[in-house]
Amino acid sequence: MTTIASQFGMKEALEKLGIKTINEGTSTGVNNFSSGEILESYSPVDGKLIASVKMTTAEDYEKTIQTAAEAFKKFRLIPAPQRGEIVRQFGEKLRENKQALGKLVSYEMGKSLQEGFGEVQEMIDICDFAVGLSRQLHGLTMHSERPGHRMYEQYHPLGIVGIISAFNFPVAVWSWNTALAWISGDVCVWKPSEKTPLCGIACQNIIAQVIKENNLPEGISCLINGDYKIGEMLTADTRIPLISATGSTRMGKIVAQTVAGRLGKSLLELGGNNAIIVTPDADIKMTVIGAVFGAVGTAGQRCTSTRRLIIHESIYDKVKDALVAAYRQLRIGNPLDENNHVGPLIDTHAVEMYAAALNKVVAQGGKILVEGGVLSGEGYESGCYVKPAIAEAENSFEIVQHETFAPVLYLLKYSGEVENAIEIQNGVAQGLSSAIMTNNLREAERFLSATGSDCGIANVNIGTSGAEIGGAFGGEKETGGGRESGSDAWKIYMRRQTNTINYTTNLPLAQGIKFDL
Ligand code: NAD
Repeated sequence: MTTIASQFGMKEALEKLGIKTINEGTSTGVNNFSSGEILESYSPVDGKLIASVKMTTAEDYEKTIQTAAEAFKKFRLIPAPQRGEIVRQFGEKLRENKQALGKLVSYEMGKSLQEGFGEVQEMIDICDFAVGLSRQLHGLTMHSERPGHRMYEQYHPLGIVGIISAFNFPVAVWSWNTALAWISGDVCVWKPSEKTPLCGIACQNIIAQVIKENNLPEGISCLINGDYKIGEMLTADTRIPLISATGSTRMGKIVAQTVAGRLGKSLLELGGNNAIIVTPDADIKMTVIGAVFGAVGTAGQRCTSTRRLIIHESIYDKVKDALVAAYRQLRIGNPLDENNHVGPLIDTHAVEMYAAALNKVVAQGGKILVEGGVLSGEGYESGCYVKPAIAEAENSFEIVQHETFAPVLYLLKYSGEVENAIEIQNGVAQGLSSAIMTNNLREAERFLSATGSDCGIANVNIGTSGAEIGGAFGGEKETGGGRESGSDAWKIYMRRQTNTINYTTNLPLAQGIKFDL
């Protein structure tokens, strides 16, 4: 019998990535000391067991951190451009493994094959970005107020970076952090989501080759496996100066408090509740493409997925009808088959949350425009496939105020000026991604102004979903305030030092203070 896995060459992909039936201990040749209970990974695509990993015990954890700390002592001495060369080689290895890793991402997480490849491409892109950056970790020079003095600032490696990642970007988020952390001279300890542990093993196996070929200490890249309990060990650990955590706002609030309690640094990338404003001057065709991809791409499981459409009353019916017609065309099924638009949710718990959201929006006064539902039968055996749904709602509904990690799109109506739409758009606790569809320059600029969108990402004539690695990525309010990836996001991975050098034979004090002895 042909299974989905065999049809799409999954066995070969797993072999190439060094995934075994049970992945334990240091068998991968990289720093993965996990020897605890078994964690099984089932595919949401077909419900089948892919492989298992062993979870990290408290003793394994201790060994990992000690190995990372030892590696840091050596790694920080390597000049930054040479660290960039390591990252360049890692990017090359990712190119060689793009097909296999993209397939695993798709099969273990459930996103489309194209999105799986796209995620690996993001990893390659951040490597390229980091290589150039490794020669540009600039500090400033300043003029001293004292004669014969020179002042400047420089950036030094920070230490161990703890990375906690979510299931929906099971490989890219790790690389956004590691590529920048490595060129900065830091070493990394990664706790991937317990829902996608094999992606963690695969990435670790790829970097292991680079570490080995360059005769570097393996503790530069460490992996710990398990659920929130192992994450808690990481966040409470005073030996880890920076915790970069990607996931739900619920998780971020716990992590932020723990890390702040020991005065550590945290970089938080949390939930979104993203909206597109559609003004009377919008290009309707572009709007529909942007909104549908934003709402149903990755089955609505992107932090930047479009959850709310805020449409001007004058074009409301037109946009609504076009959307409903577009939703009728959607093909739901195996994400490895490129003919399908929508794959599964990550697990049956996510399906329950999706169904609950649809019940709630009706109970709170909304109206379903495109019916949802859980699919069953041939091809849907995992129980994770759902129909993308659209509901008319009000921004004040409790369910609209929350991020439901599923393909549920709420249509909201506004009247009058664009400021009314902006007020609705900003009227949620989260602040990740936002967009306006308009050909009106004045409206676009008002949306981007200081009184416009309050999100970390604000786009014009592009949807909310997806971002390029060159820009700093992240959001405000309950999205956590962190920025990673491009621009100057590297600064959080380093410690800044201000240096003043006196090249005179006197010791003048600052602020004109006299201290004669
Ligand atoms: P989640 O919060 O359930 O889990 C994320 C990670 O946190 C997992 O590795 C989990 O084990 C760990 N974790 C959970 N509780 C913890 C604790 N108390 N201490 C330490 N670690 C803990 O999120 P998820 O369901 O995997 O992912 C979906 C969420 O992630 C959505 O809210 C989505 O918006 C968000 N997300 C945000 C971004 C972003 O860049 N802003 C990117 C991807 C996903």
